Amino acid sequence: MADTFRAAVVTSFDAPLDVKDVELPTPGPFEALVKVKYSGVCHTDLHAAEGDWPVKPSPPFIPGHEGVGEVVAVGDAVTRVSVGDTVGNAWLWSACGECEFCEDGWETLCLQQKNGGYAVDGSFGQYMLVDSRYCPVLPEGVDLAGAAPILCAGVTVYKGLKQTDTKPGDWVLISGIGGLGHIAVQYAVAMGRRVVAVDVDDAKLELAKKHGAEVAINAATATDAVGEIQAATGGGVHGALVTAVNGKAFPQAVSSLRRGGTVSLVGLPPEQFPLDIFSVVLNGWTVRGSIVGTRRDMDEAIGFFARGQINPTYAVEPLDNINDIFSRMHAGKIDGRIVMDMS
Ligand SMILES: [Zn+2]
Ligand SMILES: [Zn+2]
Repeated sequence: MADTFRAAVVTSFDAPLDVKDVELPTPGPFEALVKVKYSGVCHTDLHAAEGDWPVKPSPPFIPGHEGVGEVVAVGDAVTRVSVGDTVGNAWLWSACGECEFCEDGWETLCLQQKNGGYAVDGSFGQYMLVDSRYCPVLPEGVDLAGAAPILCAGVTVYKGLKQTDTKPGDWVLISGIGGLGHIAVQYAVAMGRRVVAVDVDDAKLELAKKHGAEVAINAATATDAVGEIQAATGGGVHGALVTAVNGKAFPQAVSSLRRGGTVSLVGLPPEQFPLDIFSVVLNGWTVRGSIVGTRRDMDEAIGFFARGQINPTYAVEPLDNINDIFSRMHAGKIDGRIVMDMS
């Protein structure tokens, strides 16, 4: 093993990423060193690289939290994974394991959590460290390029759907059929939910139907989208998952709920949306945020993928394309996910 490797490094929030050689880290007691094969590129990586959020990472750092690869070395205290295992990193890179949230199985809410590609170096390079107690473990033989998007996009929508508190046979609205939404439709169908897909692009609605959506509504051309949804579902959807980054999608999803329904928010547009308190109270609606997923959610999300029920749309590109990939992401020109090949 060489003592350096190539990685895309954020050196400043105002400069392009620098693809260069960096020093190979040594795994700490609970850590594993992973030779990365593929890494997905998430919108959050772009926000990290540009320092968009209130709590900023500290350059220099390596983004990336959808990396998959092979364990090549482990620290002294590692028991959960072994050299040769296939593992990944994730946004939830580690948590404290001892706080009230961790004790409750809600490590995604741990205040001491570390985030992959943000507080700790991520997967935009040929090697990465993972915390063996928290890293996703992948079964043998899965398609690794396709598995990469499951580690953030997949688990995020899967958990978001669980958080709608719906059951098999219930209607769920998936708003926004982009990188997250097209995967959400597949999880919802695999989980036995009936899907209403909403987007402003007919091609994306066709994709949603291909993945099993029973009702597809173009919010830009429909005269009364909410009325159509209520008619098609016999009174509104039981749950809704908003992945769209269009502010109008939020009140529309809330209004499409059946009485007692829950809307789960996973997209992060910068705006706010009006919430009609009278309707929320009288209809008994729940509006809930959902952030990535716990280790159990991750295992379940990977399971659906490994059994062939989830097929993310992705394109493979080399690590050297990272700045161009970010430019296209800014321009909204990416269909599905870009997965970078590190070999
Ligand atoms: Zn992400
Ligand atoms: Zn904790």
